[in-house]
Amino acid sequence: MTFPKRYLVRFGPKQTQHLFTDLLIIGGGIAGLRAALAAPPEMRVLVVTKDKIRESNSTYAQGGIAAVRSPEDRFENHIEDTLIAGAGLCDRDVVEVVVREASRQIDDLISFGAHFDEGLGMEGGHSAARIVHALGDATGYEVMRAIIARARSAPNITIWDRTFTLDLLTDGGACLGAHVARPTKEYLLIWSKQTILAAGGAGMIYRETTNPPVATGDGMAAAYRAGAVLRDMEFMQFHPTVLYVAGSSRYLITEAVRGEGAYLRDNQGHRFMLDVDSRAELATRDVVAQAIVQTMERTQHPCVYLDLSHLDPDKVRSHFPGIDRVCREFGLDITRDPIPVRPGAHYMIGGVQVDAHGRTSLANLWAAGEVTSSGLHGANRLASNSLLEGLVFGSLCGRLAAEAAVATPDRFVVPRIETTYEPETDGPRLDVADLTSSLRSLMMRKMGVVREESGLREAEKQVAFWCRYVLRREFHSRAGWELQNMLTVSRLMIWTALQRTESRGVHYRADFPQRDDWRWTRHITCPARLPDTPVGPVAGS
Ligand SMILES: Cc1cc2nc3c(=O)[nH]c(=O)nc-3n(C[C@H](O)[C@H](O)[C@H](O)COP(=O)(O)OP(=O)(O)OC[C@H]3O[C@@H](n4cnc5c(N)ncnc54)[C@H](O)[C@@H]3O)c2cc1C
Repeated sequence: MTFPKRYLVRFGPKQTQHLFTDLLIIGGGIAGLRAALAAPPEMRVLVVTKDKIRESNSTYAQGGIAAVRSPEDRFENHIEDTLIAGAGLCDRDVVEVVVREASRQIDDLISFGAHFDEGLGMEGGHSAARIVHALGDATGYEVMRAIIARARSAPNITIWDRTFTLDLLTDGGACLGAHVARPTKEYLLIWSKQTILAAGGAGMIYRETTNPPVATGDGMAAAYRAGAVLRDMEFMQFHPTVLYVAGSSRYLITEAVRGEGAYLRDNQGHRFMLDVDSRAELATRDVVAQAIVQTMERTQHPCVYLDLSHLDPDKVRSHFPGIDRVCREFGLDITRDPIPVRPGAHYMIGGVQVDAHGRTSLANLWAAGEVTSSGLHGANRLASNSLLEGLVFGSLCGRLAAEAAVATPDRFVVPRIETTYEPETDGPRLDVADLTSSLRSLMMRKMGVVREESGLREAEKQVAFWCRYVLRREFHSRAGWELQNMLTVSRLMIWTALQRTESRGVHYRADFPQRDDWRWTRHITCPARLPDTPVGPVAGS
């Protein structure tokens, strides 16, 4: 069978409803809504999101947005910090543009009604205090509140929530819109002059993740099926400190806590980061996450602990009210008790390749935010640089795609798009929830913070086996489509992780622990078709 099939759900242009718009934006997080707000007021903009508009990684962002806004700081320092974290794979021109644009974007957010806290925060990997934050540790919530309100009040912007984008419509190498499923279960073909993909990340591919349930890599999978170039899929950033309490959701403990002076200790109370890196707890995320995994292995203990007991309790509570509230629910007093933490999938660095203007390899398709690989983050994203990326690339794409839409004539002929294939609809009933949870466990075990060839080969075979019988089905449910997308993205991630026989940034290969600049100071592009993987022996789950 061809992997993957071109469209998740078959459609016939004669049987399906049609809608026409100038600009279609897929995703209502920071990147999608910032793009919508950058389009001129006379342009018809349709934003679709698969859940309620508030459900996005953007809303859950805690620490803040990096921007040079203090007289003691300089653009060059922020650029340098970003390049160092990126471990040789950042695109310097992109870094320069994003860093220099940051402060203007913060001013725009203020003009949209966002309220930021006084003072700038410090975070791991930054050489100066430059983190703009809101409501203590709920920056994303406040920024999204303001940006959603502004988008809702704009007469030219229509927001459709609970609208699942199944696929991008393409003809002759150009994107013409998207095939979507509405909450009332009917399918719709949206034809647009220009399309912006801002569908976010893929943390849900892992059992331990900080991401909300919407982050299933749909945008990456749809772009891949449509023939867009994806790259660097091996680079999944793990957040080192995710709350690890049975029964709780995997709540992120922001590095602002370590910025404030918290220590990381093993189960014997030893402050192990002092043995690993001169920056100790303020080392970059990859270094801290790997040290935690190694410590867990050494101590044979399922987590490590964040210790804030030496810090001023009033300051701790006022700076981190969200963390304080969540921990209290589990009987933990963060000013006294050690907080159990372990790494979880946090940010997808790889994705749809875009140029410095947000153009993808498909004509009429733009992309912004976590769904992309723009060259900003290289092999490791610096903390608080991703909301910023969504703002800068969202604005750029919104403006440029709108200009391109103006230049596109109104006359449009609906193309004949062939979606015929033989789906397997009458096979045994699939337990989608069981398969999804098996995939998430497998990815955590074999494609987690530390990888090596034999584990990756096992994962490759297992995922190929699941793909065989899941991808050829036609589902009519969100859970089914998400599983198909997660399998597609997982296969690409495992394939690229196998190719990169070195350790760099967030990609740590235990069998190739050194960085190999001579061979690997380059990106890895996913092939349009992955080579067939021999299946088996594989486990049942
Ligand atoms: C807990 C947490 C804390 C974080 N803290 C910070 C921080 O302090 N600073 C920082 O810079 N970054 C932080 N990040 C990362 C940052 O939040 C994200 O990288 C960023 O918000 C991504 O924005 P986005 O617009 O690209 O995607 P998102 O905000 O995730 O938005 C994606 C949108 O796409 C929609 N979508 C997805 N699939 C479909 C589909 N099939 N059909 C239709 N719509 C779809 C979703 O509904 C959603 O509206 C954090 C992330 C998390 C999870």
